[in-house]
Amino acid sequence: MEELENIHALLKASLERERALELRVADLADFVEQVAMPLHWVDRNGIIVWANQAELEMLGFTSEEYIGQPITLFHADQAIIGDILKRLTADESIMNYPALLRCKDGRIKEVLINSSVKREDGEFIHTRCFTRDMSAFFEEEKRMAEVLVDLEQSEARLLMAMESTGLGTWDYNPQSGSLTWSEQCKKIYGLPLNETVDFSTFSEHIYPEDRGFVQQEIQQSMKPDGDGRYDITYRITRFDDHSPRWIRAQGKVYFNPEGQPERFIGTVDITESKLALEKITRSEKLFKTIALNIPRSFIIVIDSERRVQAIEGDAIQRLGYLAAGYEGKHLSEIGPPGRYEKTKPLYDRMLAGEQFIEERKGANGDDFMVHFVPLKNDAQKVYAGLIIALDISDYKRAEEKSAMLAAIVASSDDAIISKNFDSIITSWNAGAQRLFGYTPAEIIGESVLKLIPPDRQEEEPEILARLKRGERVEHFETKRLTKDGSLLDVSLTISPVKDAQGKVIGLSKIARDITEKKQEDSRKNDFIAMVSHELKTPLTSMRSYIQVLLGIAKKEGSSFQVNALTRADLQAQKMTTMIHDFLNLARLEDGKITLHKTRFALQPLIEEIAADAPFLTSSHQVVLADCKQIFLYADREKIGQVLNNLLSNSIKYSPKGGTVTVGCEMLAERVKIFVRDEGVGISSEDQKHLFERFYRAKDEQIKTVSGFGIGLYLVAEILRYHDSLITVESTVGLGSEFYFIMDPVKQ
Ligand code: ADP
Repeated sequence: MEELENIHALLKASLERERALELRVADLADFVEQVAMPLHWVDRNGIIVWANQAELEMLGFTSEEYIGQPITLFHADQAIIGDILKRLTADESIMNYPALLRCKDGRIKEVLINSSVKREDGEFIHTRCFTRDMSAFFEEEKRMAEVLVDLEQSEARLLMAMESTGLGTWDYNPQSGSLTWSEQCKKIYGLPLNETVDFSTFSEHIYPEDRGFVQQEIQQSMKPDGDGRYDITYRITRFDDHSPRWIRAQGKVYFNPEGQPERFIGTVDITESKLALEKITRSEKLFKTIALNIPRSFIIVIDSERRVQAIEGDAIQRLGYLAAGYEGKHLSEIGPPGRYEKTKPLYDRMLAGEQFIEERKGANGDDFMVHFVPLKNDAQKVYAGLIIALDISDYKRAEEKSAMLAAIVASSDDAIISKNFDSIITSWNAGAQRLFGYTPAEIIGESVLKLIPPDRQEEEPEILARLKRGERVEHFETKRLTKDGSLLDVSLTISPVKDAQGKVIGLSKIARDITEKKQEDSRKNDFIAMVSHELKTPLTSMRSYIQVLLGIAKKEGSSFQVNALTRADLQAQKMTTMIHDFLNLARLEDGKITLHKTRFALQPLIEEIAADAPFLTSSHQVVLADCKQIFLYADREKIGQVLNNLLSNSIKYSPKGGTVTVGCEMLAERVKIFVRDEGVGISSEDQKHLFERFYRAKDEQIKTVSGFGIGLYLVAEILRYHDSLITVESTVGLGSEFYFIMDPVKQ
């Protein structure tokens, strides 16, 4: 029983093993059936005995159509299958044998066949063929080849396109260090086309200042964590002429699967515009500085596209341009409407390379001088234009004014002459030529002394001294010499010529011929002299009779008669003085005055004159300050006349009385002789004219005071003959002081 159980157990175990085996075989069969790799078996007669699903799908047959058929039926190339079968029969195994299989739809598939024969006891059972479908692979390969051709072609096309745009290309292999430049690239760098370049020569030709930054950028691009892109603008130094150029380089780094940079390719382009722009910017700064420093000007810089690069200056608005914010705008977009169209031909000329100047009117009528300056690059190509406008309105107005003045000067009857402080004549009008006989060519550059008679040469330094003090010399009557040697009576008005800043730069002299007036005056003077002379004789005898009668009346003690005769004598004396003045004036005017100089003491002369004062006034106190020890060398009678005049004026023009002082004051070596009063005073306007002939102050208060306005003229003239000058200092309402300064002599 136990044995039976044992057999049973054994049987069971063997059954279970068999079952397990069966399961494994079924599993394998299913695997073979289902596996993606096509498989088939062929028997010794070449008949297909089995094929899996993958094989059937590869060729498109059902198992009925395929299994049981000779294998040769499915081979497109009989030679191949013949060879395969032959080899297998000879017990060879074949590996990756290329063959061509025919599909159900007629397509031919390229396959690789691996096969060996299954034998049992040396007997050929069937072949075991593994077929690998290569069509997809070959197709892919073919497509790859086509893509490659395409790629090559498009790369070539791209290269051509880039070269035609002036772009150069470069190719750098960071691993090997080799660098290749396209033709255009070499042209940009000025490198001969047959020469090659390497990374170090490339580096050497980066502009020194830019080298550091370019290398940094390259390193940056080749970092594995970056995007490998590269786009920078920098300067290079050309190989041929070593001149600098701005270029823009763009590129991309390609990394290998290990993350190392494998290829670095890109393009270069000349950025002339950048160079031009830099030039403009540089110039622009300069132009701005210029514009800001030239008052009443403005400057516009435009590029070749007529866009404003810079606009600056205080006169912008005055030419009709409104406000700032012009930069980058086209010229037609700025300025008043229609202006661009009108000005366009000028811009055209400038941008065509012409440099010129035009006078233009601003919006408000101001005149501008506008310079159009083309800015050219080394190749003489205009890359920008500079427009400089200067406001010349003032200059224009001055020009018009000076043209008008020149016309006046030219047409004047008077001689108008200008000279410098060295007395050299610098201009000479037609009037001067008519008067003096010299042509401008003969006299300009000569000394003015040529026109002054020998006995009046000292007048010139005196006139110059007065002018240097800024004074004008008006109606100075004198004599001048003509070319033919004759003497002319002239009235001179000489003024300093000042520049815009008020600096005296020369002298202008107007000479008027007064010969006729002089002759007329002379006739008048002769008449006055004659009348005065004729009046003097009867007046003298009249005074003698009055004095005789006065003497008698005094003796008789008739106070009324004494009083009346004293007044009559005073009036007669006044008349005598007046007649004397007229005579003196007439003599003076005729130049007939002569000095009889003697040495005399001043004090007695003053006392003599003051002695007459009580006859003139009772309401004034005449004080004689100390003039003792003063001796003069002069015409005693005429100095007496001067003092007499000043004293009687002081009394006349102090209607309310007061003190009149006659005195002397030492000023170092010189003596100041003065007559001072507490009278009405003289306004500063009147002071300027007091010493002119027949001038009388316009003061209402003294209108009733008799006089002809000759006295002070005579005073001034007499003193002038003595090389002295009468001066007045006065305050209206407080009084006046008249004084002159002389050189005293020893006792
Ligand atoms: P006349 O006294 O005959 O008018 P003068 O030549 O002597 O002429 O004086 C000119 C003018 O100067 C006078 O009319 C007078 O207005 C003014 N004048 C002269 N002396 C004095 C003085 N001491 N005070 C005020 N005015 C004076």
